[in-house]
Amino acid sequence: MADTSGSQKTEDCIFCKIVAGELPAEVVYKDDETVAFADINPAAPVHLLVIPRKHYTNVVEAAADDPALIGRMLAVLTRLAGEKGLLEDGFRIVCNTGTRGGQSVPHLHFHLLGGRSMAWPPG
Ligand code: 5GP
Ligand code: ZN
Repeated sequence: MADTSGSQKTEDCIFCKIVAGELPAEVVYKDDETVAFADINPAAPVHLLVIPRKHYTNVVEAAADDPALIGRMLAVLTRLAGEKGLLEDGFRIVCNTGTRGGQSVPHLHFHLLGGRSMAWPPG
């Protein structure tokens, strides 16, 4: 199985820095356990990232430690999809995991993509 553990330390993590306010981001939503912000390199007209404030390398770690957090994150994602007017035409939620999953930032994040038609299967 591919190694999905990552190696970056929390203090070097760019998403932890966004949570701490040490790196700027276009934050669109926050609560006591999640932050949502615009992706710096949008792949669709709407492209938001929803992350937990707590550092988990990926969804595997988070599911093992706090599976209900993932449900609450999905509720945030669907709420944001509604606020962005995506419910009628549809949208995509993506959670790239590990090397083969195409994960480039080792802090759990869900992508919310919308505003255009999506292809399947993904590359
Ligand atoms: P991944 O490839 O890990 O699934 O997604 C990481 C996402 O984070 C990419 O879509 C990338 O554009 C975005 N990203 C990387 N660095 C930053 C940053 O400093 N700020 C913001 N807002 N997004 C970032
Ligand atoms: Zn982090």
